[in-house]
Amino acid sequence: MFCWLSRLYRGLSRPTRRTTQLIWGSFSRSLVLSSQRRIPELSSFVARTNTCGELRSSHLGQEVTLCGWIQYRRQNIFLVLRDFHGLVQVIIPQDESAASVKKILCEAPMESVVQVSGTVISRPPGQENPKMPTGEIEIKVKTAKLLNSCKKLPFEIKDFVKKTEALRLRYRYLDLRGVQMQYNLRLRSQMVMKMREYLCNLHGFVDIETPTLFKRTPGGAKEFVIPSREPGKFYSLPQSPQQFKQLLMVGGLDRYFQVARCYRDEGSRPDRQPEFTQIDIEMSFVEQTGIQSLTEGLLQYSWPSDRDPVVVPFPSMTFAEALASYGTDKPDTRFGMKIVDISDMFRNTEVGFLQDALSKPQGTIKAICIPEGEKYLKRKDIESIRKFAADHFNQEVLPIFLKTNNNWNSPVAKFIMEKQGLGLIRLLETQEEDVVLLTAGEHKKACSLLGKLRLECADLLEARGVALRDPALFSFLWVVDFPLFFPKEENPEELETAHHPFTAPHPSDIHHLYTEPQKVRSQHYDLVLNGSEIGGGSIRIHDAELQHYILATVLKEDVKLLSHLLQALDYGAPPHGGIAIGLDRLMCLVTGAPSIRDVIAFPKSFQGHDLMSNAPDSIPPEELKPYHIQVSWPTDSETKKSSLNHPCHPES
Ligand code: ASP
Repeated sequence: MFCWLSRLYRGLSRPTRRTTQLIWGSFSRSLVLSSQRRIPELSSFVARTNTCGELRSSHLGQEVTLCGWIQYRRQNIFLVLRDFHGLVQVIIPQDESAASVKKILCEAPMESVVQVSGTVISRPPGQENPKMPTGEIEIKVKTAKLLNSCKKLPFEIKDFVKKTEALRLRYRYLDLRGVQMQYNLRLRSQMVMKMREYLCNLHGFVDIETPTLFKRTPGGAKEFVIPSREPGKFYSLPQSPQQFKQLLMVGGLDRYFQVARCYRDEGSRPDRQPEFTQIDIEMSFVEQTGIQSLTEGLLQYSWPSDRDPVVVPFPSMTFAEALASYGTDKPDTRFGMKIVDISDMFRNTEVGFLQDALSKPQGTIKAICIPEGEKYLKRKDIESIRKFAADHFNQEVLPIFLKTNNNWNSPVAKFIMEKQGLGLIRLLETQEEDVVLLTAGEHKKACSLLGKLRLECADLLEARGVALRDPALFSFLWVVDFPLFFPKEENPEELETAHHPFTAPHPSDIHHLYTEPQKVRSQHYDLVLNGSEIGGGSIRIHDAELQHYILATVLKEDVKLLSHLLQALDYGAPPHGGIAIGLDRLMCLVTGAPSIRDVIAFPKSFQGHDLMSNAPDSIPPEELKPYHIQVSWPTDSETKKSSLNHPCHPES
C-alpha cells in the first residue's frame, strides 16, 4: 500500500556494486542513535513539538505540532508528511466544522510546506504498516497552516525516480531532499564530529583556520588565481594548507587540525572536484609511525558503528612492491590476481617479442592469472584487452587459456616448452579454466598495464556474477617508501617531487641526495582504501639548508617564493610531520556512493561548473577594471579545440 517507501540501490564508485536500502525514518534514527550516546533534541527552538519520523505508539494521546513537506495524498483522506527524520500519516478531517483544515490539506500541491497540529492516535486494527517506522500511529489533525505552496517540480522527490545528474545538480536544493543525499550528508557530519572529538578532546589537537587567499606555491597542482586591486598582483587559492600547517608547528602550536577546503585547478576528472575537503593534520616531534597510529585511531574512532569495525594496524606495503604486484601505488587489496614476474622462465624463449623485451635494460616478462577467465571472458573481451594494451601502452598482451590437463591454448603455445608451462602454473598458481595474460617490456610499463588489466578483468568478472570483492569489506593499506622524486614526464632528465617539496628524505638514503637524488626514498606515506588513495602525508624537512638545496638545486624552483618558510625553518623549527585525509573520497567509499559529488552538498559538475548558479560566470569589463585585467577572448578555432578537449559530461 505505501508505495512511497524509497528503495535505493547504490553502487560503490568502482568496481563493486553495493546495495544500500534506505527507508525514510529508519535511517536518520539509526544515524542519530548509532553515533551519539545522548539523543539530540531535534525540536528545540522551532515551531514544532516533534519530528515526523520520531512518532511511535509511545506517543499515543499526545498533542503534537509537526512541520513538513506533503509527500503523498490519497483519496483526500490520508496525507503523508515528510521531514528530514521520516514520514508520518496524517488523517485529513472530513467533518464540516473542519472544512478549512480539509481545504488547506487537500488543495496544497505536493511538496508544499505545512504545519499541522493534532493528536497521535493508533491506526485501526489491520491498517498498521510494519515497513514504516511510524506505521502504528497516525495524526488526527485539528489545525493546519500552509507555510508555503509548491509549484510543479522539475522532478519528484523520490529517490527511485530516475533523473540525470545534470538535472540533479541544477536543482540541487531539491535533490538534497532525497533519502540518499540526506543520509550521505548527515553521516558525513557525524563522522567529522567524531573526528573532531578524537583529535581535540582525546588528543589535544587545536582546530585552526588558515587563509584561503594566499600566494603561488611552487611545484604540485595548478592553482586558481584571484585578481587583486594591485596591478599585476594575484592571490592563489591554496592547494592545501601545507605551508601554514608547518608554520603553525614553528609557532609552537604542536598539534594542529582543520577541516580544510583545498583548491586545485586540475581540469575535468570524474573523481575530482576543483574544491574539496581534507582533514588536515600536523604534529611536532613525531615520526612516521606516530602519524600512522594517529590516523588509524582516528578512522577507527569515527567509523560508523553499523559497519564492520576498522581493524588496526593497517597493513603496509612499499611503493616498489605495490608497483610490482599491483601495477599502481594504490592497490585494491580486496582480491588477488597479482602481477608475477616470469622473466627467468623465459630466458631461452624462441618467441620474438619476449626475446626482444628481455634483451633491453629493465626488460621483463610479467603475467596475471584471471581465475576461471575461460568461463567468464568472451573472445571480444580479450580482443578489447589487447587493443587497450596496444592503444594506451603500445604493448602486446598474450592470452593463454589453460585447458584441461594444463594444455595451453595460445597464439604462442607451440613455443612454450613444457618446463616453462609447468613453471608458469607453479608461479601463477593457475588452475584449469584460468586465463593468463602475459606481457613483456620495461618493468614499470609492463606493471602499469597489467595493473590496469587486473582491475578491468575484475570488473568484467563481477559484471558476469563472480563475487570477487566483498562490498562490505574496507581494505585499508599504507603505501610507504616512495621515491622522493620522479623524473618529469615531459622531460625525464628533470626531477619533480613525488609528494610535495617539503617532504623529508628517508634517513637511510640521504647520502644519495647530493649525487643520485633519483635513488632517494622519502618519508612519505599514502593511505589507500579499496584501491583509492584517501590520504597522504609525510615527515617534513625542518632544516632550512636541506630545504633550500632540494628546492633550488634538485627541483630548480624559485626559492624566493618560499623565503618566508625557509626563514621560519631557521628560527627553531621543531621536527614535524602530518597527513591529510580526503574527506570527500572517504565518504564516497563509506556511503557506497557512485561519485564524490554525492557526498558534497553543492558540488561542481564534471567540468567544474556550478550548474545551479551557473558559476563561473562572466563579469562586465567595468567590474574588471579595478583589477587591471582584461579578457582576451579565444578565437573560434581555440574555442572549438577546447570543447574537443572537454567532451560533454553531465552538463550536456
Ligand atoms: N598537504 C598534503 C596534501 O594535500 C598532505 C600532507 O602532506 O600533509 O596532499
